[in-house]
Amino acid sequence: MHGIAEEIAANGRSWGGRLLDLVLPPRCLACGVIVDRQGNLCGHCWQELQFITPPFCRQCGYPLPHSAVLDPLCAACVAEPPSFTRMRAALRYEAAGRRLILRFKHAERIEGVASFAGWMAEAAADILAETDIVTPVPLHRWRLVKRGYNQSALLARAVARLAGRSCVPDLLERHRATASQQRLSARARRENVTAAAFRPHRRHRDRIAGARILLIDDVFTTGATLEACARVLLRAGALGVDALTLARVVRDEAHPI
Ligand SMILES: [Zn+2]
Ligand SMILES: [Zn+2]
Repeated sequence: MHGIAEEIAANGRSWGGRLLDLVLPPRCLACGVIVDRQGNLCGHCWQELQFITPPFCRQCGYPLPHSAVLDPLCAACVAEPPSFTRMRAALRYEAAGRRLILRFKHAERIEGVASFAGWMAEAAADILAETDIVTPVPLHRWRLVKRGYNQSALLARAVARLAGRSCVPDLLERHRATASQQRLSARARRENVTAAAFRPHRRHRDRIAGARILLIDDVFTTGATLEACARVLLRAGALGVDALTLARVVRDEAHPI
């Protein structure tokens, strides 16, 4: 008779993945159909997945048409440079990329973390080589309580482990907006809340000064959250802040080249 341990050893796959297979059938990370192994996509979704490859803006990572320029800079970054030095994303937030994020964020399907982290580490290999601390964008406490995990923290830990960097999951924390904001207009309040919503955790304040920090989030939409976090870290003395997400929205209307 074949014992579970022998089966796992013979198979050569990760313990975690194999044990999950024994309990639940492995499902496509993007659409949920049954696939051959945990952490995979079905053929259809795999084909739809769009990895972001060069050329892209050397600062914000926005994909650009082929050009003769080495390390191009997009018009948006020339007009208003973001606070982060470099931004990278593994996938476009479209089709299977979008479904995969939605399952990860809202359907509590976290078995893809190892695959996601692998794609992210590859997309930011040059940045990770210079990173001192990897940290996630913090989640609102009530959301953390409701969901039980911060998907960005899961990604940050896995990316840091792959690249041999240290991860500090609570380098930044969210805090409540102050009452003085009530007098501001809705728009000003929104902007103010974003900028004022983060602060360095008291316990880690000394680690930020002089460090190169890599911020991790699941998806880059407008970049406002990453921008707010980067500003806070730079104000606290970080030498530089980079950003890495699993996916990003690529929309030409919102981002003139
Ligand atoms: Zn699928
Ligand atoms: Zn740019």
